[in-house]
Amino acid sequence: MRFLDALQADLNTRRAQGLYRTRRVLEGAQGPRVRMDGRELLSFCSNDYLGLAADARLAEALCDATRRYGVGSGAAHLISGHSQAHHALEEELADFLGTERALLFSTGYMANLGVLAGLLKRGDQLFQDRLNHASLIDGAQLSAARLRRYPHADTDMLARQLAERSDGDKLIASDGVFSMDGDVAPIGRLADLAREQSALLMIDDAHGFGVLGARGRGSVAAAGLDVNAAPVYMATLGKALGTAGAFVAGSQALIESLIQRARSYVYTTAMPAALAEASRASLRLVAEEQWRRDRLTQLITRLRAGMAAIGLPLMPSSTPIQPLLLEDPARALRWSEALLQRDILVTAIRPPTVPRGGARLRITLSAGHEAADVDRLLEALQALHVSAI
Ligand SMILES: *Cc1c(COP(=O)(O)O)cnc(C)c1O
Repeated sequence: MRFLDALQADLNTRRAQGLYRTRRVLEGAQGPRVRMDGRELLSFCSNDYLGLAADARLAEALCDATRRYGVGSGAAHLISGHSQAHHALEEELADFLGTERALLFSTGYMANLGVLAGLLKRGDQLFQDRLNHASLIDGAQLSAARLRRYPHADTDMLARQLAERSDGDKLIASDGVFSMDGDVAPIGRLADLAREQSALLMIDDAHGFGVLGARGRGSVAAAGLDVNAAPVYMATLGKALGTAGAFVAGSQALIESLIQRARSYVYTTAMPAALAEASRASLRLVAEEQWRRDRLTQLITRLRAGMAAIGLPLMPSSTPIQPLLLEDPARALRWSEALLQRDILVTAIRPPTVPRGGARLRITLSAGHEAADVDRLLEALQALHVSAI
């Protein structure tokens, strides 16, 4: 059939260009060490930054709550799927951040679609950093607003775009921590511009929440700003919190509007209540166990110093995302495979996830890593560097 033949031809092209994507099968829990193909690998490519994904206390909370609530929530939040567990998690997230309300979504992808498509109307303008996460770009496509993208972190260009005359409302959306680069958005400047231009600022803090700021309150707090500086604060539960799902935090009016208008909230089954209970347990650990963030800071410093000493500088980043830019997708794949031969797992990130010429090893650190793990990675990378593969 012509359609399927065309699909096969496209697959062949992708393979020839080093852009073919495959999945690896995990045979156990996520963590600094994972089992794959019967081998134990030292992993530097999960978003489980605090090492909580396989924490026994979260597993216990999940199991206990499953006995109480069952497995499936059975309905959307607005029908009969919204449980005490969901409600308590929302209240605790709002409390933790200091916002009036918070609203759970089943995934971060859906939260971003829901906010952008739900809040923006025809004639509005949406301003986005060029390196924003795919879900924000897709949300823009679903919304009726005009999308304008500004060069990465270029607040001068954004200021010029914002100053152009327009009648509709304006929303600025930015990742708090950029997912493939690890750098932090210029949140203070974004907040100033938003205030000056009466635009709404949305921060997607998928990689900052739990990791940055006092008690892990995220990138807005880490920038020294009041939570209201970003009136739409979105973050996910599947990264540092080690569970799954996402939320938007903000004012009463924002959350009530999302409940009415965000289609990815209204028309989908609520996440299992037990998952919400596990996230409540995780939120307590995130707030209380400062040692996890301290450990991360030490590991980041160790990795960066070691890479500089080898002569393989990492991209500028102070977060657990520490990419090594290799540019060519085939080269990134070769490095990833050579590491795998040494039982180290670092996935190659290639276009279109990153721009052309931006293929990289996206190295991520976790509070579950030991200094010796980082040293092992450094030794392996040095060997690859010397052999110039
Ligand atoms: C992971 C991620 C998302 C999507 O969150 P999921 O819960 O995985 O769907 C959204 N935004 C950013 C910046 C992310 O890194």
